[in-house]
Amino acid sequence: MKKTYDLVIVGSGPTGLGAAFHYMANRPKARVLILDRNKFSSGGLRNDCKMNFTYPVGFSSAYWTREVAEYYLNLVMLKLQPDIMQKTNVSVYAHRAARLGVELLDIRQTHLGTDGGVRLIKKLLAELEGLGVELALEETMISLDADKQLVLTDRRELTYEHLLVAPGRSGFRFLQDLLHTIGVHFIDNVVDIGVRVETRREQYPIVADYYDPKFHFPAKVRTFCTNSGSAYVVKEKYESTQGRPFFSVNGHSYSDTTRHSGLVNFAMLKTVNLTEPLASGQEFAEMLGMQAMLLGGGQPIMQRVGDFRLAKRSKGETFTGDLYDFEPSLKGCTAGDISLAMPSKILRAIWKSLKQLDTIVPGILHPSTILYYPEIKLYANKPTFQDRHFRVRDGIYMAGDGAGTSRGITAAWASGIRAADGMLA
Ligand SMILES: Cc1cc2nc3c(=O)[nH]c(=O)nc-3n(C[C@H](O)[C@H](O)[C@H](O)COP(=O)(O)OP(=O)(O)OC[C@H]3O[C@@H](n4cnc5c(N)ncnc54)[C@H](O)[C@@H]3O)c2cc1C
Repeated sequence: MKKTYDLVIVGSGPTGLGAAFHYMANRPKARVLILDRNKFSSGGLRNDCKMNFTYPVGFSSAYWTREVAEYYLNLVMLKLQPDIMQKTNVSVYAHRAARLGVELLDIRQTHLGTDGGVRLIKKLLAELEGLGVELALEETMISLDADKQLVLTDRRELTYEHLLVAPGRSGFRFLQDLLHTIGVHFIDNVVDIGVRVETRREQYPIVADYYDPKFHFPAKVRTFCTNSGSAYVVKEKYESTQGRPFFSVNGHSYSDTTRHSGLVNFAMLKTVNLTEPLASGQEFAEMLGMQAMLLGGGQPIMQRVGDFRLAKRSKGETFTGDLYDFEPSLKGCTAGDISLAMPSKILRAIWKSLKQLDTIVPGILHPSTILYYPEIKLYANKPTFQDRHFRVRDGIYMAGDGAGTSRGITAAWASGIRAADGMLA
């Protein structure tokens, strides 16, 4: 049965939620539908839910000036009413960092944890239902007929006035297929590749002062997504364009203090900009993911810093014990040699930045510290937008991490509001 909606939103992540709330606030009688192939938004709202409310964290400078981002961030803050965490001693670390040419960003942050994020999602979805928004969870968008303004899902056909496609990073390839179908030019030449670092909390004490410290190193490397308290490293499964599986590692933590691990984890990511001959960042990342799978026997690779410094692979039988005195929080990872799997230019930049970090926060390069590889962030589809509201064709908008307009929860939410502003105009 065909239905007509004023707005169909694909993806119940922060982009979709931001757009839905903003649209409904301005058109309370509108018929709005949110589709999600999962029961819940599957990105960072659901995993860890650390939110940053300061430009430029999460924003791509290709689409956002400070002024525009701050305007929308204010709207996000008004809606989410975050409880901003206190920071201490930031100027001490920032001063040490500056001496090495490293920048420590002073960011307004809040952290709900994986459990708190799930509670927030439930609350927001209930609120939207109360406003009259229809939710179609566990329903997947399959394809689009842009001329007929028709969306085909795995259950039905839907017609729309406005369509917002916000499928996040997990919908990276789906979005690319859609862009091909509707003939919108795009490039995906940027990718973040790196390692996840895990160590004892005492070896990275800055987290007591600043929950998720954002260091930017001269080698285009940055710290990203720091977790402490009940913190764990996890692996996420992806599928290559040829349908072959590979893993990327990630990290999260719970607000529930009974799950305390005593560990800290964070990503050290290098941004790689591919230029002539223009290659796909996604395919490059897939090849690296696959190479790690090959060397890790189908699993991500982990190596102790002590072994790495000696240019020795780590081995399962000696991985824990002696100075290597904590168990990796990620099980099912192969002790090995990340330097065999990682392109040297990326590895050198990350290692140099880690040494700088160890000067700023002494301890992080303790021999027991674990480096997990690969951590890959695919977010860089860059469609050719027709306007500043992320419209790709009449009535069709694409925003959020999948469309490269954000790389974090708050920027994604801001992207959703900005897209909705375009529709409302
Ligand atoms: C494990 C993990 C942890 C993260 N932690 C943080 C964090 O702590 N802080 C932070 O700022 N950022 C974090 N991020 C990044 C953050 O999730 C994203 O920046 C943000 O969620 C992007 O929002 P989005 O709305 O664009 O996409 P998403 O939040 O990814 O939402 C997209 C939604 O679209 C759905 N979807 C995809 N394809 C289809 C389809 N064909 N049909 C229907 N539905 C579809 C997906 O199921 C998904 O729920 C994390 C990401 C991951 C993966």
